[in-house]
Amino acid sequence: MTAGPSDPVQNKGQPGLVSAALSGLCPRCGAKTLFSEPAGLAEECANCGLDFFALERGGRFVGVVTMLLALALIMAALAVDEWLRPPLWASLVVWGPVTVGCVIGALRIYKTMWVYHQYEERSE
Ligand SMILES: [Zn+2]
Repeated sequence: MTAGPSDPVQNKGQPGLVSAALSGLCPRCGAKTLFSEPAGLAEECANCGLDFFALERGGRFVGVVTMLLALALIMAALAVDEWLRPPLWASLVVWGPVTVGCVIGALRIYKTMWVYHQYEERSE
């Protein structure tokens, strides 16, 4: 990547990836249009028309990321279970929301990173 005089990256107001993922910010206009569901990308930006669907294409590791994360959480749950021997309802109460939250959060961050990466590559 060369930093020429026509570098389109704006330093001011450029959201960090984590806050972009949490708020679902469009990489082009910064509107909160990236996600139409908690962990699902919108097809395009409702504000500037940027085609998220085209940018997301090729992001096929999403399933692998989700599976690895789920596997790690199950292992953690089993380890805690073995260690503390909590009642079943406590396990469910704790691990249900934790699992859902982690998977949704990881997917959002992963998809945001992917879309931002694709967007930067294409805008060069
Ligand atoms: Zn936009």
